[in-house]
Amino acid sequence: MSRLKIHNPANGALIAEVPADDAASVSAKAQQARAAQRSWARMPYADRRACIERFRAGLVAELEPLAATLTSEVGKPIRQARNEINGLLGRIDFFLAKTDAVLAPETVFDEGGTTERITHDPLGVVANISAWNYPWFVGGNVFVPALLTGNVVLYKPSEFATLTGLAVARLLHAAGVPQDVFVPVIGAGEVGRALLEQELDGLFFTGSHATGAKIAAALGPRLVKLQLELGGKDPVYVCEDANVANAAAALADGAMYNTGQSCCSVERIYVHERIHDAFVEAFVAEVRGFKLGDPMDETTYIGPLTRAPQLDVLAEQVRDATARGATLRVGGHRIDRAGHWFEPTVFTGVDHTMLLMREESFGPVIGIQKVGGDAQALALMNDTRYGLTAGVYTPDEQRARTLLAQVNAGSVYWNCCDRVSPRLPWSGHGDSGIGLTLSTYGIQTFTRPRAWHLRRA
Ligand code: NAD
Repeated sequence: MSRLKIHNPANGALIAEVPADDAASVSAKAQQARAAQRSWARMPYADRRACIERFRAGLVAELEPLAATLTSEVGKPIRQARNEINGLLGRIDFFLAKTDAVLAPETVFDEGGTTERITHDPLGVVANISAWNYPWFVGGNVFVPALLTGNVVLYKPSEFATLTGLAVARLLHAAGVPQDVFVPVIGAGEVGRALLEQELDGLFFTGSHATGAKIAAALGPRLVKLQLELGGKDPVYVCEDANVANAAAALADGAMYNTGQSCCSVERIYVHERIHDAFVEAFVAEVRGFKLGDPMDETTYIGPLTRAPQLDVLAEQVRDATARGATLRVGGHRIDRAGHWFEPTVFTGVDHTMLLMREESFGPVIGIQKVGGDAQALALMNDTRYGLTAGVYTPDEQRARTLLAQVNAGSVYWNCCDRVSPRLPWSGHGDSGIGLTLSTYGIQTFTRPRAWHLRRA
């Protein structure tokens, strides 16, 4: 078995080395999981639910060390690491409150001796290939409802969030989920590829469009149920009647929280020409106020990038925007210190010829474009292959609703951004994927309906 080295992105230090899977061990794990699936599915729902309740209690008990582990391997500022785990508690509460009703059998017709009923079976063996940027969130969106509904889960955390992935497994096992029912699969892309070779009933992926497209190509011919939660280039339009200070503060946070490494980070800002200059001044002041530094420091807001190659992506976006005539307002450079650091960066005078306004940045870099009015803003917001989220800032609710009904996005925001609710479905359009998690849809998705036609002789 090979070993996976884990480095701290804040300083480059080697923090752990763990055994990684190979093709043979992945195959053995998949077979063990399949053998365990029926007994897990037959277990009364109340018993599966009790396991998840104990898992939740374990998270509460270990919140501080779990947050520190997350910070040490992905560089997420410690307060934001804590927020993520606390946020998962709310999601677990939602799933615990709703799964019972989703699984309840339903009689939809009962007349003249004929009864029609719907029951809900688990999919069976599901694989969850996950991302590093919110490993508790994007993993939990899958493994919590998948386990509650009677599936077994082969869980491959990102190679950049392996310690967190192993902590998920340890806590679930301690909570009573059998070892063969929740099975961590450890390693990088080649281990993910080995997982695709197994007999699966569902594949739930969170990650980049490039990887998602490869997975779709590999699994398409086998007709495995597939969900892909991919990237975004999420736009926000600030109207001329918006409160400039409030919008600037909210959008600077929406663009830079988690060091800009959120799938629903604000990635493009369009501002009405009448308030453009005032907005830019307020926005840049907000960004200058963000404290960058050691992610273990309670006062840090911007940490390192998790992955070193993203530094080149950001540097190329900066180079390209500059060459095409954009104006750099703040930042623009790598920071010369150990680890993966990039200055929070704001450009104005941008347009859609620039990589910065077309390709996912996934870092603390943002472009602000001046627009003449709603029609232009709408056209620019929709000028993208992605469609994860979009927002409008204005006190005029009718105007916001009219605009948001026309944007091509799975989630739309009025006077808010970078927000996910367990009560609402999380899904993307276009290159943002074919995923659907959270809400009761995100529970149903781990089941398949059985249609019962019952006729009394
Ligand atoms: P990634 O595509 O590099 O990796 C995701 C996972 O796929 C990892 O576990 C990786 O090991 C695995 N993998 C890589 N190559 C594979 C292959 N050929 N076959 C099978 N598995 C393979 O993505 P990432 O860098 O971990 O995540 C960042 C991306 O995720 C961003 O684009 C972000 O927007 C997106 N994201 C989307 C959501 C959402 O809900 N839509 C949430 C979080 C992140």
